[in-house]
Amino acid sequence: MPTNFQVEPTEAPIAADDRARMLLDPGFGRVFTDHMVTVKWSEERGWHSATVSARKPFQLDPACAVLHYAQEIFEGMKAYRLDDGGIGLFRPEQNARRFNTSAERMAMPTMPEELFLDAIKTLVRIDEAWIPDAEGSLYLRPFMFASETFLGVKPASEFIFCVIACPVGAYFKGGKKAVSLWVSDHLNRAGPGGTGAAKCGGNYAASLKAQAEAYRQGCDQVVFLDAVEHRWVDELGGMNLFFLFDDGRMITPALGGTILPGITRASIIALAKARGVEVREERYAIDQWQADAQSGKLREVFACGTAAVLAPVGEVKSMSGDWLVGNGEGGQITEEIRSELLGIQRGRFEGPVGWLHHVSLR
Ligand SMILES: *Cc1c(COP(=O)(O)O)cnc(C)c1O
Repeated sequence: MPTNFQVEPTEAPIAADDRARMLLDPGFGRVFTDHMVTVKWSEERGWHSATVSARKPFQLDPACAVLHYAQEIFEGMKAYRLDDGGIGLFRPEQNARRFNTSAERMAMPTMPEELFLDAIKTLVRIDEAWIPDAEGSLYLRPFMFASETFLGVKPASEFIFCVIACPVGAYFKGGKKAVSLWVSDHLNRAGPGGTGAAKCGGNYAASLKAQAEAYRQGCDQVVFLDAVEHRWVDELGGMNLFFLFDDGRMITPALGGTILPGITRASIIALAKARGVEVREERYAIDQWQADAQSGKLREVFACGTAAVLAPVGEVKSMSGDWLVGNGEGGQITEEIRSELLGIQRGRFEGPVGWLHHVSLR
């Protein structure tokens, strides 16, 4: 049975012409829609009080558990305006599943997949006017946090689930630019037995010092290595990596608990395999990366995730030297995979069955 949301529409929606102005150049994560969805959970009642209402601040007690022990998880997904005027979501059930995997790792309640999907669709419907057309999309941010007022260290007994949305422009404004990477050889985001495979705010908190170092080095993003040998490539702070070789092979680091299992990553593996490309999920060493880039065996590298979809990697800087991948400007195959995936997400070409989920407007 679909979830029954209590609907409390905002009394002060942003005027259509102001919204149109905000949609012209929304950037990423700065402009928000009029509404939010919230669902509460408590030990006694389970999931309850599903509501869609005006986007507004939470009132939290200073002893609210999440502020102290960071019991928090999130997801990131996009709604697209399709060419036929409809609205599409890309593999949203994968986000629902991963949200529950993250919840389990963080000792939080799991959520029926249908409730997660109903929450997403309810927000998309009420804020439909905020979905940009052309290359933009509506970025959806479902998240859940421990809302109990208690300083004892234990899994909380109350949680709030919420979905907010922000219109975002094309990630690469004014032409694509390859991203530059800084190799973090001493700061780690995740380790064996840790929370690297869960999409939790804590992983990001752990990555920010390395990200600040990357900026100081003039780089866009950080490459994190494994926490034991500081040798094997894991991923970026928020994107997975793929390596493309001169013999047509592709490598992406194998998931082993320290890497976030990206839905973009899984989709690219599936598309490449369907085309007969050999994709290996295996370890790849940072010194091998440097050697293969310098010998020319490594042709292209790209990072992938929902926000940027695919971003070509150009320059890599590290304590043991700097190198370029290819000519440093990204390559042909990266571009082909990127257009294929974007085309499927926007309903321009047919992808594998079930990948594009149409949102009905009623
Ligand atoms: C969200 C995320 C990704 C990308 O996952 P997608 O499902 O492709 O958006 C990669 N790495 C980290 C650390 C992430 O948090």
